[in-house]
Amino acid sequence: VRATKGGEEVRGYAPSMGQIFMRRFQMVTQFRQSLEDGQVSVHYQPKISLPNRQVAGVEALVRWVHPEFGRLGPDEFVPAIEAAGLIGVLTEFVLEESLKRVRKWLDEGLRISAAVNISVRNLADEEFPAKVAAALERFDVPPSLVTFELTESGVMSDPQKALPILRELSALGVELAVDDFGTGYSSLAYLRQLPVDQVKIDKSFVLGMGTDLGDLAVVRSIVELGHSLGLTVVAEGVEEDVARDQLEAMGCDVAQGYLISRPLPEDRLEAWLQARTARSLGRHQETVLTL
Ligand code: C2E
Ligand code: MG
Ligand code: MG
Ligand code: MG
Repeated sequence: VRATKGGEEVRGYAPSMGQIFMRRFQMVTQFRQSLEDGQVSVHYQPKISLPNRQVAGVEALVRWVHPEFGRLGPDEFVPAIEAAGLIGVLTEFVLEESLKRVRKWLDEGLRISAAVNISVRNLADEEFPAKVAAALERFDVPPSLVTFELTESGVMSDPQKALPILRELSALGVELAVDDFGTGYSSLAYLRQLPVDQVKIDKSFVLGMGTDLGDLAVVRSIVELGHSLGLTVVAEGVEEDVARDQLEAMGCDVAQGYLISRPLPEDRLEAWLQARTARSLGRHQETVLTL
């Protein structure tokens, strides 16, 4: 389905299979160089604890500004990078950027943890835990300030293979989170067998819970069962204060979403943090509490 306008292709048309293939091929072959060229960066999205609304940490989310394709979201290139066997390179980059950040904060007297998304393919690398340990040492960051997020479908795709590596990571002292929980086929009871510390409720349920009683029931049961298993429960996709208030009333521990902040480049995150710290140190405590 092609439409042209003044010789230029109109955006929003469905690209052909050949075009999709070529794009993926270019992404994969150019990826390493793009890291060196500074096209790939990490944005950070803050999370807040409930009910006190203190900054609980940030999630690192990768971005690629491609010279030809423009801004690419991770959903557009991470699967291609994974399939090409380059996920180790990506994860190492995001982890190092995040550790640099956490180290800077520590030097400023702030203890803010960073969460890094990993792929099940990272767990196929037996050296992965040793690489993580070396990076923590290199940046002199305590393991407790790092969380690895792995999607539910990732953990479940090959639990026998994932389990020993997850145990090794857990033994290092980093936190482990199951991301996008509720979208896979696993039961919460199965989580008991994994060395995980946190469960992140998938944003589809959080976004829907204001209008869909089914979504609300899913959110409520993940909070309750998560707590009964001793897990920290994080809700992603918190866009409205009604949702945040409902989550708070349910006892959900941490909220993340556009209501609190969009993912931000490093400098804007710094400004966001400074604004919050200034407010919480000032007399206007109530402004912090209404965020
Ligand atoms: P995720 O780990 O579940 O990350 C949350 C996604 O939800 C992010 O999309 C974030 O921008 C978006 N989001 C946050 N708050 C809201 C909200 O209130 N409403 C809505 N509608 N969306 C919200 P993003 O950055 O496009 O990342 C998509 C996925 O790509 C991530 O989902 C994660 O699975 C993957 N990803 C991102 N960075 C990395 C990375 O460095 N490595 C790997 N392996 N995967 C990554
Ligand atoms: Mg995540
Ligand atoms: Mg998620
Ligand atoms: Mg996701």
